[in-house]
Amino acid sequence: MAPHASAIIDTPGSVRVGDVPDPTPRDRDVVVRVGACGICGTDLHIADGHFPPSPYPIVPGHEFAGEIVEVGANAPGGFVVGDRVAVDPSLFCGYCGPCRAGHGNLCANWGATGDTVDGAFAEYVAVPADTCYRMPDGMTFQEGALVEPVSCAVHASGASASRRANGSSCSARARWA
Ligand SMILES: [Zn+2]
Ligand SMILES: [Zn+2]
Repeated sequence: MAPHASAIIDTPGSVRVGDVPDPTPRDRDVVVRVGACGICGTDLHIADGHFPPSPYPIVPGHEFAGEIVEVGANAPGGFVVGDRVAVDPSLFCGYCGPCRAGHGNLCANWGATGDTVDGAFAEYVAVPADTCYRMPDGMTFQEGALVEPVSCAVHASGASASRRANGSSCSARARWA
């Protein structure tokens, strides 16, 4: 496998740019050439060692969009090389109680690309195909990278509105964005 450049946090308090092997897609993965990746507050927590789910070393970066360059043998969604996608970094198990209730953000086995496995502060990243969303032709990669944080804000806004409507106090139960 050829190497490519990534930002790597070997241990809390250190960030370096170094080579990592190009990812190989698993059966249901695609490989995305990263077009843009946002820097989230969570990334700073990971860099500081204040985000317990993250292992080290890790390549962070979970707010991203890019172009598919490789497709796993049984990847769902009919993706082809060249498709431009925004990626949901959340990795849900699909079978725990919260997942079965439709609340994958509260998954008991929660993980996330760039938070618990290597992410998109890299030239290439492998992700499950079912976390990819095709972008409209006119959308830039920078705009695509904002889909994840905007989604969190929209979800939080809706949740707080429904709590106000129910007359209860607003207590955020959102996972990390
Ligand atoms: Zn789950
Ligand atoms: Zn984030």
